[in-house]
Amino acid sequence: MIPLPGASTRLVALLGDPVSHSLSPTFQNAAFRAAGVDGVYLALRCGAADFPSLLRAVAHAGGAGNVTLPHKEAAALALDWCTDAVERTGACNTFWLEDGRVRGDNTDVEGFAAAAESLLGVPARGLRVLLLGAGGAARGALWALVRGGAAEVVVVNRTPERAEELVRRFAGEGTRLRVVPGAEMLRGERFDLAVNATTLGLRDGDPLPLAPEGGPEIGAGLDLVYAPGETPWVRALRDAGTPAADGLEMLLRQGAAAFERWWGVPAPLEAMRAVLPRREAR
Ligand code: NAP
Repeated sequence: MIPLPGASTRLVALLGDPVSHSLSPTFQNAAFRAAGVDGVYLALRCGAADFPSLLRAVAHAGGAGNVTLPHKEAAALALDWCTDAVERTGACNTFWLEDGRVRGDNTDVEGFAAAAESLLGVPARGLRVLLLGAGGAARGALWALVRGGAAEVVVVNRTPERAEELVRRFAGEGTRLRVVPGAEMLRGERFDLAVNATTLGLRDGDPLPLAPEGGPEIGAGLDLVYAPGETPWVRALRDAGTPAADGLEMLLRQGAAAFERWWGVPAPLEAMRAVLPRREAR
C-alpha cells in the first residue's frame, strides 16, 4: 500500500517553461511508487527571474529536481558543485542537495549514451557518427560520444558557425571532429550512426533531418525527437530497412539516472517504461 503524501514527503520538481507537455511527472511518479520512495514529482512552470532562487530553495527545503528548456544553462550557474558532464556541456538537467550543497548533473549525457547503445547493441567506442544539429541536445550527445571514445563525429547544422563552435568545445579529446555544411557533401561515406539533434520532426510538414537519398550511407538512426507512434525520420529509416529509434529511450534513461542521483537506489526502469506512450514495434 503506497502512503499518501505526508509531512515528510520529498518534493521533486521539474523547472522549465513550458512544462505542461512533459512526460517526466508520469514516469517519475510511477518510479517513486514502484520503488516505494516517499516523494512526489511536480512540474513547476517558472520564468528566468525566479528560476535560480526557486532551484536553490527547492533543494534547501530537502527537495530535488530536473531542469528543462530554457533554464539548463542557468541551472549550471546556480549550483554549488557539479559533475564533469555539467562542466563540459555548460548545462544541468538534474539537481539535489548533498552535505548542505546544491549539486547538479547533466543526465542527458548518460541518457544519450544508453539510448545509442540500446539501439546499436554496442557502446560508442570506435564508431563513426553523423550528428545533425548544434544546439543543447547536440552538445550533450557530442560529449557522450567523445567521452565514450567515438572514432569520428561529423557535425552538420543549418548554421555552420554554431557547429564550428560546438566542435571547438570538444576538440583535442581523441575523437576526430569535422564540420561539413551539408549532408550531401558526405555522399559515398558510411557512418555507423546518424543522430537527429535538430528540432525537425516536431512539427507537421517538417522536412526530414537527413534526406534518404543523395547523402551518406548510415547503419542506424537515433532521432532525439519523439512523437506519438514513430517520428517521420524513424519511419523513413525503418521503411528502408535501417534500424532506428526515437528520443523516448533517451528521455527514459536520463530520467532513470536522475532518479538514482536523488534517491541513491537503482531506478525501476521497467515500471517507468510501462507508463510511456506505446511505440510501434517493427
Ligand atoms: P536547440 O538548442 O534550440 O537547437 C535546435 C537545433 O535544431 C539547432 O541545431 C538548429 O539549427 C536546428 N534547427 C531548428 N530548426 C531547424 C530547421 N528548420 N532546419 C534545420 N535545422 C533546424 O534545441 P535542443 O535543446 O538542442 O533540442 C533539439 C531537439 O532534441 C528537440 O526536438 C528536443 O525535443 C530534442 N531533445 C530530446 C531529448 C530526449 O531526451 N529525447 C533531450 C533533449 C532534447 P540552428 O543552429 O541553425 O538554429
